[in-house]
Amino acid sequence: RTRTRFAPSPTGFIHLGNIRSALYPWAFARSTGGDFILRIEDTDLERSSQAAVDVIIEGMAWLGLDHDEGPFYQMQRMDRYKAVLAEMVASGHVYLCYMSMAELDALRERQTAAKEKPRYDGTWRPAPGKVLPAIPEGVQPVLRFKNPQGGSVVWDDKVKGRIEISNDELDDLVIARPDGTPTYNFCVVVDDMDMDITHVIRGDDHVNNTPRQINIFKALGKEPPVYAHLPTVLNEQGEKMSKRNGAKPVTQYRDEGYLPDAMVNYLARLGWSHGDDEIFSRSQFIEWFNLDHLGKSAAQFDEAKLRWVNAQHIKITADDVLANLVAANLQKRAIATDERLPRICALFKDRCDTTLALADWAAVFYAEAQPLPADIAQHVTDAVKPALALLADKLAICTWDKASIAAVIKEVLTVCGLKMPHLAMPVRVLVVGNTHTPSLDAVLELFNREKVISRLKTA
Ligand code: GLU
Repeated sequence: RTRTRFAPSPTGFIHLGNIRSALYPWAFARSTGGDFILRIEDTDLERSSQAAVDVIIEGMAWLGLDHDEGPFYQMQRMDRYKAVLAEMVASGHVYLCYMSMAELDALRERQTAAKEKPRYDGTWRPAPGKVLPAIPEGVQPVLRFKNPQGGSVVWDDKVKGRIEISNDELDDLVIARPDGTPTYNFCVVVDDMDMDITHVIRGDDHVNNTPRQINIFKALGKEPPVYAHLPTVLNEQGEKMSKRNGAKPVTQYRDEGYLPDAMVNYLARLGWSHGDDEIFSRSQFIEWFNLDHLGKSAAQFDEAKLRWVNAQHIKITADDVLANLVAANLQKRAIATDERLPRICALFKDRCDTTLALADWAAVFYAEAQPLPADIAQHVTDAVKPALALLADKLAICTWDKASIAAVIKEVLTVCGLKMPHLAMPVRVLVVGNTHTPSLDAVLELFNREKVISRLKTA
């Protein structure tokens, strides 16, 4: 059974670049009938916040990235990490290192001066026949992992292909600080081990951690999981997407009128492909997803493309689903709606790229008319005013349905000797406040008769 996880650090509001690292493991679990686990890596106490955790959980719920287990919090698992540390001490896989900060700095300086890569030199690593230095006073030791010497770490990365790192490049990693708290890479391994993770799908900023993590797995007598390291998501300026350079929190897209299915579709395509398919549903995505079609190069975020994908999804979303979203938005604007709303959505959804745009159209039907801007008002000429008055009179007494309204419009055109556009434009402007609308009879039918007549009479 496959088991994947998303392991965000709640150190900033989660953005689209981060959440894509949730989408793929989620999709992989769903497409293989496995489990998806949420784990909050909150050990950086200074930079972690509850507000950031909330955005992660809210954002994932909004996008429908449901987890089967968790959220687990690393801060609540400290006892477990310490127990595993103790096991590693007992099995001889770690050792105490008393090198002081000052000595470490001096070592680093010497190595840098000699143009060597800074690395711990193994001073305190025990070996048969080796005499260790005398334990200094006043230095709290760290625990270091005895990285294997010689040989290499190899894994078959599902995105990057085979990666081989020589053990000589890896020094003995600190896995517990002087105060005994476990360090990052160690916690990740214990978690991935305890949570039986079979596939680690994460950002490639972690690819350098992987050989170290694999070595720790092996020391614990466990097979490491399969790894897939996803290329970075770049913003529109071509920089790595981050909060610092303006990436929005995921939940902001909800507030801006994006549909979760559109977001899933867009993010799915941002680093994965299924032939030329651009628009697909959540269930198609799950059916099609596999690790073989993950992109190998960085993907670039494109807001215009996201809007386009959203527009396509609005077109195929059920009217009552759209109506619920629109009603919630109008409610925030203190505009009450009624049972006409799904039909209004049906009429306008083809021309909207966000549900906020759809809400703006719907508001026209329910709110008071707004004063007309001059460039629009100019369409209501004196010449057409008698026709508008006649139209108002006739609409006041006709049956209120599309066909009857169409017949009335036609009659007024004949009586006044006008062509359709001459009358339709001022009616649109007066009633809807816009020069572009769907067909007039369909629009008018969805209005309250009284509203149409009073708006026509403002001419
Ligand atoms: N907590 C890490 C991050 O947010 C992810 C660690 C992992 O997936 O192994 O970048």
